[in-house]
Amino acid sequence: MNLPVLSIVIPCFNEEACIEHTTTRLLEVLKELEDENQISSDSFIFFVDDGSNDNTWSFIQKENEKNNKVKGVSFTRNFGNQMAILAGLTEANKLKADCFITIDADLQQDETKIKEFVQKYKSGIQIVCGVRNDRKTDGVFKKTSALFFYKLMNLFGVNIKPNHSEYRLLSKKVVDALENYTERNMFLRGIFSEIGFKKDYIFFDVKPRREGVSKFTPFKMFTLALNGITSFSIVPLRMVMFLGLIVAFISFCIGISALIDKIFLDKAVSGWATIVTAIGFIGGIQILCIGIIGEYLGQLFQEVKNRPRYIIEKSIT
Ligand code: UDP
Ligand code: MG
Repeated sequence: MNLPVLSIVIPCFNEEACIEHTTTRLLEVLKELEDENQISSDSFIFFVDDGSNDNTWSFIQKENEKNNKVKGVSFTRNFGNQMAILAGLTEANKLKADCFITIDADLQQDETKIKEFVQKYKSGIQIVCGVRNDRKTDGVFKKTSALFFYKLMNLFGVNIKPNHSEYRLLSKKVVDALENYTERNMFLRGIFSEIGFKKDYIFFDVKPRREGVSKFTPFKMFTLALNGITSFSIVPLRMVMFLGLIVAFISFCIGISALIDKIFLDKAVSGWATIVTAIGFIGGIQILCIGIIGEYLGQLFQEVKNRPRYIIEKSIT
């Protein structure tokens, strides 16, 4: 059997401080696997510069001059981590790889596990997902919000394994199938949980970041979580409908009771505070429901425009 060509895909946003060390480490990992006859010597590293404002791209070029196993593309602007991963897989797929591993530029994910990913692939698994053992390196906010997000997703009917990361191996077949997902708002973790194929998990430890700071601002995380929910579940829309029904039913009961008070008990109306609270409550719920519907409408708007998902400006292939 021919040895598989492995491509390691790395999304980068303002990662100039990491490129050199990451490349050195990953080339070592590739070399070890090649020496052990696990993968083909045509295996390569594929960087995607997600519109960095620093010198990330020139660092990638420098690494390519040292070793032509280092390839990559650069976006015209920041399109976000999901698009960077997608572009990396799509472009690397054109270079005839058999399997792909995505990993973060800061190598927080344990790169020594790559060997185990490859072994699983060779045993016939098409998707190998990296799952974090714990969230020790995350702050309290990130930890709790992530836990809440996975619980919410499961409640909404999208079964994503908690602490599933963007560290995963995909076979060429999976990447070919992924190319048929043409949506603008991509939530890869959701797609890989519904795309099918033989799947397995590998558990790894997360290291603290060596250089630079996290490029995932709370706002970017919130946007990703919201996209994840609205692009995979319509349960929130149904909840809006039920909420409306419940509120309408309660108002109806209150109306009936007020009518009974007036006609049979002849009670004077003294509930100014009650009315104001009720109006405020219903107003709040209405705005919330319109917001949820608006979120889905926004998604539709994005999809209908059918704009390019990312634009590549430069490439080294
Ligand atoms: N990243 C990206 N585009 C962005 C934000 C992040 O390509 O808009 C990349 C980043 O360079 C890194 C990976 O996504 O390779 C994960 O980001 P980071 O390590 O900052 O996130 P954290 O580990 O803190 O969740
Ligand atoms: Mg990181």
